[in-house]
Amino acid sequence: MSDWFRADKDAKGQLAGPREAGLPIPTRIMSNGEYSPLPQTEDQRRVEAALFDLADRFAPRLDMNRRRFLQSSFGMAAAFGALNSVFGTSYAVAQDEIADTGAAAEWAARHAGQFIFDGHLHFVHDAYDWPGILGFRNAARFMQADGIPQRDPDFDDVKFENFVKEVYFDSDTTVGIVSTATSDDPARRFLTNEQIAGDVARLNSAAGSRRLMGHAAFHPGADGWWDALEEAIEVHRPISWKGYTVGDPLSPTSIAPWRLDDEDLVYPAYERMVEAGITNVCIHKGLMPADYATRMPDLWPYATVDDVGKAAQDWPQLNFIIYHAAMRPVVMFDPGFIAAFEETGRMEWVSDLADIPDRFGVSNVYADVGTSFGQGAITQPRLAAAMMSILVKGLGGDHVLWGTDAVWWGSPQWQIEAFRRIEVAADLQDRFGLPALGASDGELKTRIFGLNSADLYGFSGAERTVAHYADDRLSQHKADYLRDGADRSNAYYGFITGE
Ligand SMILES: [Zn+2]
Repeated sequence: MSDWFRADKDAKGQLAGPREAGLPIPTRIMSNGEYSPLPQTEDQRRVEAALFDLADRFAPRLDMNRRRFLQSSFGMAAAFGALNSVFGTSYAVAQDEIADTGAAAEWAARHAGQFIFDGHLHFVHDAYDWPGILGFRNAARFMQADGIPQRDPDFDDVKFENFVKEVYFDSDTTVGIVSTATSDDPARRFLTNEQIAGDVARLNSAAGSRRLMGHAAFHPGADGWWDALEEAIEVHRPISWKGYTVGDPLSPTSIAPWRLDDEDLVYPAYERMVEAGITNVCIHKGLMPADYATRMPDLWPYATVDDVGKAAQDWPQLNFIIYHAAMRPVVMFDPGFIAAFEETGRMEWVSDLADIPDRFGVSNVYADVGTSFGQGAITQPRLAAAMMSILVKGLGGDHVLWGTDAVWWGSPQWQIEAFRRIEVAADLQDRFGLPALGASDGELKTRIFGLNSADLYGFSGAERTVAHYADDRLSQHKADYLRDGADRSNAYYGFITGE
């Protein structure tokens, strides 16, 4: 047996112990260092209170304590009920899902065959020790509520073993792509291209099927970048590329930003990618801190989508997959951002991205929704739903790709549940002509969850079904893990303000 699984088993006593947080969804916004953290808002406090209220009402009927209830699927359903009670109804939640074992089982059975391809996953390498990843703002405790144990995040939370547990055991995710970031300081790099290739091989050989694929980072203009590109092509064979046009997302003084449409610098790399047959180019965009204009006056324009249209037009052989859907703010409770959307129906930088096919006559531009959907789902569900709809309308329902940025945000299960349940508010559908997202297992959501990426990455036949993976070693381990009564950890890794 592989050591990743044994290590996970050994750690189980600890994972169920007092190290854990305990809410089904985060009620604070955290940061992985790609952007700045923010304090809990009044609305988030109300969500938390409403959730505890539901837990205290329904847990005794199910013969559970509060903690157990919050870890169960009842707690997950209750969390979306609590969000509805604070923000207005965006989530479909039936009352009996919170209190009736039959309804909860039915909901789970209904989605058991849903193929989920998460194109945006992270963990850091085993020797990673840059404290910034944990110590952003003293890595404060996540929950301070009564009866919920507290703990600080540590490096193990964001490393391979726990990644496997949270993504494959604690969520419905079927397959995924692990990413990384470029950085001016090598010590901050989450994973090197070589480490990604090694971990992908390690997991797949342990699983006995292809559950994980990997990016290779490329950084035009940085020292040794061309050699690294060649090495990736010759040796590591990534499934797609990952680039950060801002250069270093962890530094407001990044020294080597670049543009996608820079003909002299970047087009030779595109030519090499086409030649190598690795034609999916994933680009981090958006996710700016509130003070971005003053904090990084020269850098922030590189985070917009201004350079996407021309590059996509000049390189129809490549697909440009814009990560975070270019969502401008890190979190949607920026009042100016919300007001502008409610007034115009346009969402900063997301709408610019959605306009590209029309403006440039291209069909090779896609959106990944990592972090943007998740943070919106818990802070402004109304806008999170609208964001998905804007992307579907502009790029097409077959050009929007599921991604969660797990494990920065803990297990991706709460994001999966949020997207299954979310719908665009009727008044927004009417006023701005935004298409509905439809049923949790309807065609559009099923495409976004997995089939779009399956198309893009050439998954064919059985490989794009859950059944294909049902008997692999990872599924067998998961079944053992669930049978042994493992609790979903409900921990969220990231860096929140101390308060
Ligand atoms: Zn990411």
